[in-house]
Amino acid sequence: MSKFSDFSSIKLYTYILNSMLIFKVNFRGDLLMELLNQIKKNAVLFPDRVAFQSRNGCLTYSELISKSESLAIWISEKEKSKTPIIVYGNMQPEMIICFLAAVQSGHPYVPIDESVPFERVKQIIEKSGAKMAFVSPAFSLDFSLEIFSFEELDQLVSSISALSVEKLRPVKGNDTFYIIFTSGSTGAPKGVEVSMNNLFSFVNWIADDFSIGKNKTFLNQAPFSFDLSVMDLYPSLATGGTLGALDKDLRASLKDLFPYLMEGKLNVWTSTPSFMEICLMNKSFDAHTLPTLETFLFCGEILPSGTAKELRKRFPDAKIFNTYGPTEATVAITYIEITDEILEEYLTLPIGYAKGETKISLLNEEGIEAENGEIIISGSSVANGYLNDSEKTAAVFFEKGQDRTYRTGDVGTFKNGMLFYNGRKDFQIKLHGYRIELEDIEMNLREVDLIESVIVVPVFKDSIINELVAVVVTRDHDFKKEFQLTSFIKKQLAERMPTYMIPRKFVYWEMLPMTNNGKIDRNLIAAQIQPLQLMKEGHNNE
Ligand code: AMP
Repeated sequence: MSKFSDFSSIKLYTYILNSMLIFKVNFRGDLLMELLNQIKKNAVLFPDRVAFQSRNGCLTYSELISKSESLAIWISEKEKSKTPIIVYGNMQPEMIICFLAAVQSGHPYVPIDESVPFERVKQIIEKSGAKMAFVSPAFSLDFSLEIFSFEELDQLVSSISALSVEKLRPVKGNDTFYIIFTSGSTGAPKGVEVSMNNLFSFVNWIADDFSIGKNKTFLNQAPFSFDLSVMDLYPSLATGGTLGALDKDLRASLKDLFPYLMEGKLNVWTSTPSFMEICLMNKSFDAHTLPTLETFLFCGEILPSGTAKELRKRFPDAKIFNTYGPTEATVAITYIEITDEILEEYLTLPIGYAKGETKISLLNEEGIEAENGEIIISGSSVANGYLNDSEKTAAVFFEKGQDRTYRTGDVGTFKNGMLFYNGRKDFQIKLHGYRIELEDIEMNLREVDLIESVIVVPVFKDSIINELVAVVVTRDHDFKKEFQLTSFIKKQLAERMPTYMIPRKFVYWEMLPMTNNGKIDRNLIAAQIQPLQLMKEGHNNE
Protein backbone atom coordinates (compact mmCIF):
# COMPACT_ATOMS: atom_id res chain seq x y z
CA MET A 1 0.00 0.00 0.00
CA SER A 2 1.35 3.44 -0.84
CA LYS A 3 2.32 5.94 1.84
CA PHE A 4 -0.16 8.29 0.20
CA SER A 5 -3.07 6.16 1.22
CA ASP A 6 -1.91 5.25 4.73
CA PHE A 7 -1.49 8.89 5.69
CA SER A 8 -3.28 9.21 8.99
CA SER A 9 -6.26 11.54 8.88
CA ILE A 10 -6.13 11.70 12.70
CA LYS A 11 -2.66 13.18 12.46
CA LEU A 12 -3.87 15.71 9.92
CA TYR A 13 -6.84 16.56 12.10
CA THR A 14 -4.66 17.14 15.17
CA TYR A 15 -2.31 19.27 13.13
CA ILE A 16 -5.11 21.45 11.85
CA LEU A 17 -6.70 21.80 15.27
CA ASN A 18 -3.35 22.96 16.63
CA SER A 19 -3.02 25.50 13.83
CA MET A 20 -6.54 26.68 14.43
CA LEU A 21 -5.66 27.51 18.00
CA ILE A 22 -2.83 29.67 16.77
CA PHE A 23 -4.52 31.35 13.80
CA LYS A 24 -7.82 33.06 13.53
CA VAL A 25 -9.90 30.95 11.17
CA ASN A 26 -12.58 33.11 9.62
CA PHE A 27 -11.77 33.66 5.98
CA ARG A 28 -13.42 37.02 5.42
CA GLY A 29 -12.09 40.08 7.18
CA ASP A 30 -8.52 39.98 8.43
CA LEU A 31 -7.43 36.54 7.46
CA LEU A 32 -4.70 35.60 9.89
CA MET A 33 -4.46 31.98 8.98
CA GLU A 34 -1.78 31.26 6.47
CA LEU A 35 -2.73 30.08 3.03
CA LEU A 36 -1.36 26.55 3.41
CA ASN A 37 -3.12 26.06 6.74
CA GLN A 38 -6.35 27.30 5.21
CA ILE A 39 -6.10 24.64 2.49
CA LYS A 40 -5.33 22.01 5.14
CA LYS A 41 -8.30 23.11 7.16
CA ASN A 42 -10.47 22.58 4.09
CA ALA A 43 -9.09 19.05 3.82
CA VAL A 44 -10.31 18.36 7.34
CA LEU A 45 -13.68 20.00 6.90
CA PHE A 46 -14.44 18.58 3.44
CA PRO A 47 -12.04 15.68 2.81
CA ASP A 48 -14.01 14.28 -0.14
CA ARG A 49 -14.73 17.54 -1.88
CA VAL A 50 -13.10 17.83 -5.30
CA ALA A 51 -10.29 20.39 -5.13
CA PHE A 52 -9.20 20.04 -8.74
CA GLN A 53 -10.59 18.51 -11.91
CA SER A 54 -9.57 18.49 -15.54
CA ARG A 55 -9.84 15.99 -18.37
CA ASN A 56 -6.48 14.70 -17.10
CA GLY A 57 -7.69 13.75 -13.63
CA CYS A 58 -9.37 14.70 -10.41
CA LEU A 59 -8.24 15.27 -6.84
CA THR A 60 -10.06 15.62 -3.52
CA TYR A 61 -8.90 17.92 -0.73
CA SER A 62 -7.74 15.02 1.45
CA GLU A 63 -5.79 13.49 -1.46
CA LEU A 64 -4.22 16.85 -2.23
CA ILE A 65 -3.02 17.37 1.32
CA SER A 66 -1.93 13.81 2.07
CA LYS A 67 -0.12 13.37 -1.24
CA SER A 68 1.55 16.77 -1.18
CA GLU A 69 2.73 16.35 2.41
CA SER A 70 4.18 12.90 1.73
CA LEU A 71 5.98 14.25 -1.33
CA ALA A 72 7.17 17.31 0.64
CA ILE A 73 8.77 14.99 3.18
CA TRP A 74 10.43 13.00 0.40
CA ILE A 75 11.74 16.22 -1.21
CA SER A 76 13.10 17.58 2.05
CA GLU A 77 14.95 14.29 2.69
CA LYS A 78 16.33 14.23 -0.83
CA GLU A 79 17.16 17.86 -1.64
CA LYS A 80 18.63 20.00 1.11
CA SER A 81 19.12 23.16 -0.96
CA LYS A 82 16.18 25.53 -1.43
CA THR A 83 16.53 25.65 -5.23
CA PRO A 84 13.36 26.01 -7.32
CA ILE A 85 11.51 22.88 -8.40
CA ILE A 86 10.27 22.62 -11.98
CA VAL A 87 6.71 21.31 -12.46
CA TYR A 88 5.97 20.55 -16.10
CA GLY A 89 2.61 19.34 -17.37
CA ASN A 90 -0.80 19.91 -18.87
CA MET A 91 -3.33 20.40 -16.09
CA GLN A 92 -2.73 17.01 -14.45
CA PRO A 93 -3.74 16.85 -10.75
CA GLU A 94 -0.12 15.92 -10.03
CA MET A 95 0.85 19.50 -10.93
CA ILE A 96 -1.06 20.88 -7.94
CA ILE A 97 0.31 18.12 -5.70
CA CYS A 98 3.84 19.08 -6.76
CA PHE A 99 3.23 22.83 -6.30
CA LEU A 100 2.11 22.28 -2.71
CA ALA A 101 4.81 19.66 -2.04
CA ALA A 102 7.49 22.08 -3.22
CA VAL A 103 6.38 24.97 -1.02
CA GLN A 104 5.80 22.73 2.00
CA SER A 105 9.38 21.53 1.72
CA GLY A 106 10.62 25.13 1.52
CA HIS A 107 11.20 25.28 -2.27
CA PRO A 108 9.59 27.69 -4.70
CA TYR A 109 8.14 26.03 -7.79
CA VAL A 110 8.36 26.96 -11.46
CA PRO A 111 5.21 25.96 -13.37
CA ILE A 112 5.68 25.18 -17.06
CA ASP A 113 2.75 24.27 -19.28
CA GLU A 114 3.14 21.72 -22.08
CA SER A 115 2.15 24.43 -24.56
CA VAL A 116 5.45 26.25 -23.90
CA PRO A 117 7.85 25.49 -26.80
CA PHE A 118 10.81 23.25 -25.87
CA GLU A 119 13.39 25.92 -26.72
CA ARG A 120 11.80 28.19 -24.13
CA VAL A 121 11.45 25.35 -21.62
CA LYS A 122 15.20 24.84 -21.94
CA GLN A 123 15.90 28.54 -21.31
CA ILE A 124 13.62 28.53 -18.26
CA ILE A 125 15.18 25.44 -16.72
CA GLU A 126 18.70 26.74 -17.31
CA LYS A 127 17.89 30.17 -15.87
CA SER A 128 16.09 28.71 -12.84
CA GLY A 129 19.08 26.79 -11.48
CA ALA A 130 16.65 23.99 -10.54
CA LYS A 131 18.06 20.65 -9.38
CA MET A 132 14.80 18.73 -9.48
CA ALA A 133 11.83 18.51 -11.85
CA PHE A 134 8.48 16.70 -11.76
CA VAL A 135 7.16 16.18 -15.25
CA SER A 136 4.33 14.73 -17.32
CA PRO A 137 5.07 12.00 -19.90
CA ALA A 138 5.26 14.69 -22.64
CA PHE A 139 8.63 15.91 -21.27
CA SER A 140 11.44 14.58 -23.42
CA LEU A 141 14.36 16.91 -22.82
CA ASP A 142 17.69 15.72 -21.55
CA PHE A 143 18.96 17.81 -18.64
CA SER A 144 21.48 17.48 -15.88
CA LEU A 145 18.83 17.91 -13.17
CA GLU A 146 16.95 15.04 -11.49
CA ILE A 147 13.72 14.39 -13.37
CA PHE A 148 10.81 12.42 -11.91
CA SER A 149 7.67 11.62 -13.84
CA PHE A 150 4.22 12.12 -12.32
CA GLU A 151 3.72 8.36 -12.59
CA GLU A 152 6.60 7.76 -10.17
CA LEU A 153 5.20 9.87 -7.32
CA ASP A 154 3.53 6.99 -5.43
CA GLN A 155 6.68 4.94 -5.63
CA LEU A 156 8.91 7.82 -4.50
CA VAL A 157 6.98 8.50 -1.32
CA SER A 158 6.92 4.81 -0.40
CA SER A 159 10.59 5.26 0.53
CA ILE A 160 10.12 8.07 3.07
CA SER A 161 11.30 7.27 6.56
CA ALA A 162 8.35 8.71 8.53
CA LEU A 163 5.39 10.98 8.04
CA SER A 164 6.91 13.69 10.18
CA VAL A 165 4.93 16.66 8.91
CA GLU A 166 6.02 18.75 11.90
CA LYS A 167 9.61 18.69 10.62
CA LEU A 168 8.69 20.34 7.34
CA ARG A 169 9.85 23.92 6.92
CA PRO A 170 7.41 25.43 4.39
CA VAL A 171 8.09 28.69 2.57
CA LYS A 172 6.94 31.61 4.65
CA GLY A 173 6.96 35.40 4.79
CA ASN A 174 9.18 36.85 2.14
CA ASP A 175 10.38 33.46 0.83
CA THR A 176 9.61 32.89 -2.83
CA PHE A 177 6.44 30.81 -3.31
CA TYR A 178 6.46 30.49 -7.10
CA ILE A 179 8.50 31.76 -10.04
CA ILE A 180 6.61 32.52 -13.21
CA PHE A 181 8.62 33.22 -16.34
CA THR A 182 7.38 36.06 -18.54
CA SER A 183 8.68 37.16 -21.89
CA GLY A 184 11.54 39.62 -21.76
CA SER A 185 12.05 42.29 -24.41
CA THR A 186 15.38 40.73 -25.39
CA GLY A 187 13.73 37.37 -26.12
CA ALA A 188 15.05 35.65 -22.97
CA PRO A 189 12.36 34.82 -20.37
CA LYS A 190 12.56 36.52 -16.95
CA GLY A 191 11.57 34.60 -13.81
CA VAL A 192 9.39 36.72 -11.50
CA GLU A 193 9.85 35.68 -7.86
CA VAL A 194 6.52 35.97 -6.04
CA SER A 195 6.72 35.55 -2.26
CA MET A 196 4.38 33.88 0.21
CA ASN A 197 3.49 37.37 1.51
CA ASN A 198 2.70 38.64 -2.01
CA LEU A 199 0.42 35.69 -2.69
CA PHE A 200 -1.23 35.88 0.71
CA SER A 201 -2.07 39.56 0.20
CA PHE A 202 -3.51 38.76 -3.24
CA VAL A 203 -5.69 35.86 -2.06
CA ASN A 204 -7.03 37.91 0.86
CA TRP A 205 -8.01 40.66 -1.53
CA ILE A 206 -9.85 38.35 -3.92
CA ALA A 207 -11.66 36.67 -1.03
CA ASP A 208 -12.59 39.93 0.68
CA ASP A 209 -13.33 42.45 -2.07
CA PHE A 210 -14.98 40.37 -4.78
CA SER A 211 -17.68 38.75 -2.59
CA ILE A 212 -17.08 35.40 -4.25
CA GLY A 213 -18.12 33.30 -1.26
CA LYS A 214 -17.07 29.80 -0.31
CA ASN A 215 -17.16 26.38 -1.96
CA LYS A 216 -17.56 27.71 -5.49
CA THR A 217 -16.50 26.10 -8.75
CA PHE A 218 -13.86 28.18 -10.55
CA LEU A 219 -12.94 28.01 -14.22
CA ASN A 220 -9.23 27.89 -14.86
CA GLN A 221 -8.58 28.98 -18.46
CA ALA A 222 -4.95 30.04 -18.24
CA PRO A 223 -2.04 27.58 -18.22
CA PHE A 224 -0.19 27.44 -14.90
CA SER A 225 2.81 29.11 -16.54
CA PHE A 226 0.71 32.28 -16.90
CA ASP A 227 -0.05 34.10 -13.64
CA LEU A 228 -3.71 34.60 -14.53
CA SER A 229 -4.07 30.97 -13.36
CA VAL A 230 -3.14 32.12 -9.84
CA MET A 231 -6.31 34.24 -9.82
CA ASP A 232 -8.41 31.08 -9.61
CA LEU A 233 -6.05 28.40 -8.23
CA TYR A 234 -5.33 29.78 -4.76
CA PRO A 235 -8.61 31.67 -4.14
CA SER A 236 -10.36 28.41 -5.00
CA LEU A 237 -8.21 26.22 -2.72
CA ALA A 238 -8.32 28.75 0.12
CA THR A 239 -12.12 29.03 0.07
CA GLY A 240 -12.84 25.29 -0.25
CA GLY A 241 -13.74 25.61 -3.93
CA THR A 242 -13.30 23.30 -6.90
CA LEU A 243 -10.98 24.29 -9.72
CA GLY A 244 -12.18 23.19 -13.16
CA ALA A 245 -9.15 23.47 -15.43
CA LEU A 246 -8.98 23.50 -19.22
CA ASP A 247 -6.16 21.43 -20.70
CA LYS A 248 -4.30 22.77 -23.73
CA ASP A 249 -6.33 20.89 -26.36
CA LEU A 250 -9.60 22.02 -24.81
CA ARG A 251 -8.47 25.65 -24.79
CA ALA A 252 -7.96 25.37 -28.54
CA SER A 253 -11.09 23.42 -29.49
CA LEU A 254 -14.38 25.31 -29.58
CA LYS A 255 -16.23 22.10 -30.44
CA ASP A 256 -15.16 20.31 -27.24
CA LEU A 257 -15.01 23.42 -25.07
CA PHE A 258 -18.73 24.22 -24.89
CA PRO A 259 -20.02 20.82 -23.76
CA TYR A 260 -17.23 20.81 -21.16
CA LEU A 261 -18.13 24.27 -19.85
CA MET A 262 -21.80 23.33 -19.66
CA GLU A 263 -21.11 20.19 -17.65
CA GLY A 264 -18.82 22.06 -15.25
CA LYS A 265 -21.51 23.96 -13.25
CA LEU A 266 -19.12 26.88 -13.01
CA ASN A 267 -19.70 29.77 -10.60
CA VAL A 268 -16.59 31.90 -11.09
CA TRP A 269 -15.08 32.55 -14.49
CA THR A 270 -11.49 33.77 -14.87
CA SER A 271 -10.06 34.39 -18.32
CA THR A 272 -8.50 36.88 -20.66
CA PRO A 273 -11.01 39.04 -22.57
CA SER A 274 -9.79 37.43 -25.83
CA PHE A 275 -10.83 34.00 -24.59
CA MET A 276 -14.25 35.40 -23.66
CA GLU A 277 -14.63 36.89 -27.14
CA ILE A 278 -14.14 33.41 -28.58
CA CYS A 279 -16.78 31.99 -26.22
CA LEU A 280 -19.21 34.78 -27.15
CA MET A 281 -19.01 33.66 -30.80
CA ASN A 282 -21.21 30.78 -29.70
CA LYS A 283 -24.73 32.21 -29.64
CA SER A 284 -25.85 29.81 -26.92
CA PHE A 285 -23.15 30.97 -24.49
CA ASP A 286 -25.53 32.64 -22.03
CA ALA A 287 -27.24 32.39 -18.65
CA HIS A 288 -29.71 29.77 -19.97
CA THR A 289 -27.00 27.28 -20.83
CA LEU A 290 -24.66 28.27 -17.99
CA PRO A 291 -27.10 29.24 -15.21
CA THR A 292 -24.64 28.79 -12.32
CA LEU A 293 -22.18 31.48 -13.48
CA GLU A 294 -22.16 34.33 -10.93
CA THR A 295 -18.87 36.18 -11.35
CA PHE A 296 -16.58 36.98 -14.28
CA LEU A 297 -13.00 38.07 -13.57
CA PHE A 298 -10.91 39.48 -16.40
CA CYS A 299 -7.25 40.36 -16.43
CA GLY A 300 -4.21 40.36 -18.69
CA GLU A 301 -5.30 42.67 -21.49
CA ILE A 302 -7.80 45.39 -22.35
CA LEU A 303 -11.43 44.51 -21.66
CA PRO A 304 -13.27 46.11 -24.60
CA SER A 305 -16.55 47.71 -23.61
CA GLY A 306 -18.31 45.85 -26.47
CA THR A 307 -17.29 42.53 -24.91
CA ALA A 308 -18.47 43.59 -21.46
CA LYS A 309 -21.79 44.91 -22.86
CA GLU A 310 -22.46 41.67 -24.69
CA LEU A 311 -21.67 39.71 -21.55
CA ARG A 312 -24.03 41.82 -19.44
CA LYS A 313 -26.76 41.15 -22.01
CA ARG A 314 -26.17 37.41 -21.90
CA PHE A 315 -25.64 37.14 -18.11
CA PRO A 316 -27.73 40.00 -16.65
CA ASP A 317 -27.46 38.76 -13.06
CA ALA A 318 -23.72 38.08 -13.01
CA LYS A 319 -21.02 40.43 -11.78
CA ILE A 320 -18.22 41.40 -14.16
CA PHE A 321 -14.87 42.65 -12.88
CA ASN A 322 -12.06 44.23 -14.85
CA THR A 323 -8.74 43.77 -13.06
CA TYR A 324 -5.27 44.91 -14.00
CA GLY A 325 -1.74 44.02 -13.03
CA PRO A 326 1.59 42.59 -14.16
CA THR A 327 3.10 39.28 -12.96
CA GLU A 328 5.66 41.44 -11.10
CA ALA A 329 2.88 42.73 -8.82
CA THR A 330 1.23 39.30 -8.26
CA VAL A 331 -1.49 38.87 -10.86
CA ALA A 332 -3.64 41.99 -10.35
CA ILE A 333 -3.68 45.09 -8.19
CA THR A 334 -6.64 47.14 -9.44
CA TYR A 335 -10.27 46.22 -9.94
CA ILE A 336 -13.65 47.60 -10.79
CA GLU A 337 -17.06 46.07 -11.20
CA ILE A 338 -18.31 46.80 -14.73
CA THR A 339 -21.89 47.87 -14.15
CA ASP A 340 -24.40 49.27 -16.66
CA GLU A 341 -23.62 52.76 -15.34
CA ILE A 342 -19.89 52.31 -16.01
CA LEU A 343 -20.65 50.96 -19.48
CA GLU A 344 -22.88 53.91 -20.23
CA GLU A 345 -20.41 56.49 -19.00
CA TYR A 346 -17.10 55.20 -20.38
CA LEU A 347 -16.34 54.06 -23.91
CA THR A 348 -12.91 52.94 -22.73
CA LEU A 349 -13.40 50.96 -19.53
CA PRO A 350 -11.47 51.91 -16.39
CA ILE A 351 -9.16 49.41 -14.70
CA GLY A 352 -10.43 50.84 -11.44
CA TYR A 353 -9.11 51.22 -7.92
CA ALA A 354 -5.97 49.92 -6.23
CA LYS A 355 -6.34 46.99 -3.84
CA GLY A 356 -5.62 47.68 -0.17
CA GLU A 357 -1.92 47.67 0.86
CA THR A 358 -1.07 48.95 -2.64
CA LYS A 359 -0.27 52.43 -3.86
CA ILE A 360 -0.32 53.53 -7.48
CA SER A 361 1.36 56.64 -8.76
CA LEU A 362 1.78 57.92 -12.31
CA LEU A 363 5.10 59.42 -13.36
CA ASN A 364 5.27 61.84 -16.28
CA GLU A 365 8.25 62.06 -18.64
CA GLU A 366 10.10 64.33 -16.22
CA GLY A 367 9.70 61.68 -13.51
CA ILE A 368 7.19 63.82 -11.59
CA GLU A 369 3.94 62.44 -10.14
CA ALA A 370 1.06 63.47 -12.41
CA GLU A 371 -2.48 62.57 -13.49
CA ASN A 372 -1.06 60.88 -16.57
CA GLY A 373 2.09 58.79 -16.94
CA GLU A 374 3.87 55.50 -16.30
CA ILE A 375 2.09 53.31 -13.76
CA ILE A 376 4.25 52.76 -10.67
CA ILE A 377 3.09 50.15 -8.14
CA SER A 378 4.19 50.07 -4.49
CA GLY A 379 3.30 47.82 -1.58
CA SER A 380 2.64 44.27 -0.48
CA SER A 381 1.97 42.88 -3.95
CA VAL A 382 5.28 43.84 -5.51
CA ALA A 383 7.46 40.79 -6.10
CA ASN A 384 11.02 40.18 -4.90
CA GLY A 385 12.46 40.64 -8.40
CA TYR A 386 13.74 38.51 -11.27
CA LEU A 387 15.42 35.23 -10.39
CA ASN A 388 19.20 35.26 -10.81
CA ASP A 389 19.10 38.60 -12.59
CA SER A 390 20.10 41.46 -10.36
CA GLU A 391 20.64 43.81 -13.31
CA LYS A 392 17.11 43.43 -14.69
CA THR A 393 15.71 43.56 -11.15
CA ALA A 394 17.52 46.82 -10.37
CA ALA A 395 16.25 48.35 -13.63
CA VAL A 396 12.58 48.18 -12.62
CA PHE A 397 12.29 47.29 -8.91
CA PHE A 398 13.25 49.72 -6.14
CA GLU A 399 12.33 50.75 -2.61
CA LYS A 400 10.17 53.84 -2.08
CA GLY A 401 10.26 54.57 1.62
CA GLN A 402 9.25 51.27 3.22
CA ASP A 403 7.55 49.98 0.08
CA ARG A 404 8.82 47.62 -2.57
CA THR A 405 8.04 49.35 -5.86
CA TYR A 406 7.79 48.32 -9.52
CA ARG A 407 7.92 50.41 -12.66
CA THR A 408 5.43 48.76 -15.03
CA GLY A 409 6.15 50.27 -18.46
CA ASP A 410 2.36 50.70 -18.74
CA VAL A 411 0.87 54.16 -19.16
CA GLY A 412 -2.24 55.27 -17.27
CA THR A 413 -4.47 58.21 -16.39
CA PHE A 414 -6.43 59.00 -13.24
CA LYS A 415 -9.95 60.21 -13.99
CA ASN A 416 -12.78 60.53 -11.47
CA GLY A 417 -10.62 58.73 -8.92
CA MET A 418 -10.21 55.71 -11.18
CA LEU A 419 -7.24 54.44 -13.12
CA PHE A 420 -7.45 54.04 -16.90
CA TYR A 421 -4.97 52.03 -18.96
CA ASN A 422 -3.57 53.87 -21.98
CA GLY A 423 -1.18 51.29 -23.35
CA ARG A 424 2.46 50.26 -23.12
CA LYS A 425 5.33 52.68 -23.23
CA ASP A 426 7.06 50.32 -25.62
CA PHE A 427 4.20 50.28 -28.15
CA GLN A 428 5.08 53.84 -28.92
CA ILE A 429 6.19 54.35 -32.52
CA LYS A 430 7.20 57.20 -34.81
CA LEU A 431 5.41 57.45 -38.17
CA HIS A 432 6.52 60.21 -40.52
CA GLY A 433 7.80 62.09 -37.46
CA TYR A 434 4.60 61.75 -35.44
CA ARG A 435 4.69 60.00 -32.08
CA ILE A 436 1.87 57.47 -31.89
CA GLU A 437 0.73 54.88 -29.32
CA LEU A 438 -0.55 51.85 -31.25
CA GLU A 439 -2.93 51.02 -28.40
CA ASP A 440 -4.37 54.53 -28.58
CA ILE A 441 -5.49 53.80 -32.15
CA GLU A 442 -6.76 50.36 -31.12
CA MET A 443 -8.82 51.78 -28.26
CA ASN A 444 -10.43 54.27 -30.61
CA LEU A 445 -11.10 51.54 -33.15
CA ARG A 446 -12.78 49.39 -30.50
CA GLU A 447 -15.20 52.21 -29.89
CA VAL A 448 -16.58 51.70 -33.41
CA ASP A 449 -19.60 49.51 -32.66
CA LEU A 450 -19.14 46.91 -35.36
CA ILE A 451 -15.53 46.17 -34.42
CA GLU A 452 -15.15 43.19 -32.13
CA SER A 453 -11.36 43.08 -31.86
CA VAL A 454 -8.45 44.79 -33.53
CA ILE A 455 -4.68 45.04 -33.60
CA VAL A 456 -2.72 47.77 -35.34
CA VAL A 457 0.57 46.67 -36.90
CA PRO A 458 3.36 48.95 -38.11
CA VAL A 459 4.76 47.90 -41.49
CA PHE A 460 8.41 48.63 -42.14
CA LYS A 461 10.26 49.59 -45.30
CA ASP A 462 14.07 49.71 -45.08
CA SER A 463 13.83 49.49 -41.25
CA ILE A 464 11.58 52.56 -41.07
CA ILE A 465 7.87 52.44 -40.32
CA ASN A 466 6.12 53.17 -43.58
CA GLU A 467 2.45 52.66 -42.76
CA LEU A 468 -0.02 51.20 -40.28
CA VAL A 469 -2.28 48.24 -40.96
CA ALA A 470 -5.38 47.51 -38.85
CA VAL A 471 -6.23 43.83 -38.54
CA VAL A 472 -9.92 43.73 -37.65
CA VAL A 473 -12.54 41.19 -36.56
CA THR A 474 -16.02 42.63 -37.08
CA ARG A 475 -19.39 41.87 -35.55
CA ASP A 476 -22.39 41.30 -37.88
CA HIS A 477 -22.87 44.22 -40.28
CA ASP A 478 -24.66 45.09 -43.53
CA PHE A 479 -21.78 46.25 -45.70
CA LYS A 480 -21.55 44.26 -48.93
CA LYS A 481 -17.98 45.21 -49.85
CA GLU A 482 -14.86 45.54 -47.72
CA PHE A 483 -13.98 48.97 -49.11
CA GLN A 484 -17.39 50.29 -47.93
CA LEU A 485 -16.74 48.90 -44.48
CA THR A 486 -13.24 50.42 -44.41
CA SER A 487 -14.49 53.78 -45.51
CA PHE A 488 -17.17 53.71 -42.77
CA ILE A 489 -14.60 52.85 -40.10
CA LYS A 490 -12.16 55.51 -41.31
CA LYS A 491 -14.91 58.13 -41.18
CA GLN A 492 -15.73 57.17 -37.61
CA LEU A 493 -12.06 57.32 -36.67
CA ALA A 494 -11.64 60.73 -38.28
CA GLU A 495 -14.06 62.09 -35.67
CA ARG A 496 -11.79 60.92 -32.89
CA MET A 497 -8.18 61.18 -34.00
CA PRO A 498 -5.82 63.06 -36.33
CA THR A 499 -5.48 61.76 -39.90
CA TYR A 500 -1.85 60.68 -39.40
CA MET A 501 -3.03 58.14 -36.78
CA ILE A 502 -5.63 56.46 -39.02
CA PRO A 503 -4.24 53.18 -40.39
CA ARG A 504 -3.80 53.27 -44.15
CA LYS A 505 -4.85 49.66 -44.72
CA PHE A 506 -7.55 47.53 -43.12
CA VAL A 507 -7.63 43.75 -43.36
CA TYR A 508 -10.50 41.63 -42.04
CA TRP A 509 -9.94 38.30 -40.31
CA GLU A 510 -12.36 35.76 -38.84
CA MET A 511 -10.52 35.80 -35.53
CA LEU A 512 -7.20 36.99 -34.11
CA PRO A 513 -4.65 34.35 -33.09
CA MET A 514 -3.95 34.02 -29.36
CA THR A 515 -0.75 33.22 -27.47
CA ASN A 516 -0.65 30.12 -25.28
CA ASN A 517 -1.75 32.38 -22.44
CA GLY A 518 -4.92 33.44 -24.23
CA LYS A 519 -3.88 37.00 -25.06
CA ILE A 520 -3.96 38.34 -28.62
CA ASP A 521 -0.72 37.30 -30.34
CA ARG A 522 0.62 40.63 -31.62
CA ASN A 523 3.89 39.18 -32.89
CA LEU A 524 2.27 36.42 -34.92
CA ILE A 525 -0.14 38.90 -36.49
CA ALA A 526 2.73 41.26 -37.32
CA ALA A 527 4.69 38.38 -38.85
CA GLN A 528 1.72 37.46 -41.03
CA ILE A 529 1.15 41.03 -42.16
CA GLN A 530 4.80 41.53 -43.03
CA PRO A 531 6.78 38.31 -42.86
CA LEU A 532 10.14 40.02 -42.56
CA GLN A 533 8.80 42.69 -40.27
CA LEU A 534 11.42 44.25 -38.05
CA MET A 535 9.25 44.83 -35.01
CA LYS A 536 10.57 47.38 -32.59
CA GLU A 537 12.32 45.56 -29.75
CA GLY A 538 10.07 45.08 -26.78
CA HIS A 539 6.79 44.72 -28.64
CA ASN A 540 6.11 41.34 -27.14
CA ASN A 541 3.94 41.92 -24.11
CA GLU A 542 2.79 38.45 -23.36
P1 AMP B 1 1.35 39.67 -17.49
O1 AMP B 1 2.55 39.97 -16.67
O2 AMP B 1 1.56 38.60 -18.51
O3 AMP B 1 0.15 39.41 -16.63
O4 AMP B 1 1.04 40.98 -18.34
C1 AMP B 1 0.86 42.18 -17.68
C2 AMP B 1 0.51 43.26 -18.65
O5 AMP B 1 -0.75 42.99 -19.27
C3 AMP B 1 0.32 44.57 -17.96
O6 AMP B 1 1.55 45.21 -17.69
C4 AMP B 1 -0.54 45.32 -18.96
O7 AMP B 1 0.24 45.82 -20.01
C5 AMP B 1 -1.45 44.21 -19.49
N1 AMP B 1 -2.71 44.17 -18.74
C6 AMP B 1 -3.02 43.44 -17.67
N2 AMP B 1 -4.30 43.64 -17.27
C7 AMP B 1 -4.82 44.55 -18.11
C8 AMP B 1 -6.10 45.22 -18.22
N3 AMP B 1 -7.12 44.95 -17.42
N4 AMP B 1 -6.24 46.13 -19.21
C9 AMP B 1 -5.23 46.41 -20.06
N5 AMP B 1 -4.02 45.81 -20.02
C10 AMP B 1 -3.80 44.90 -19.05
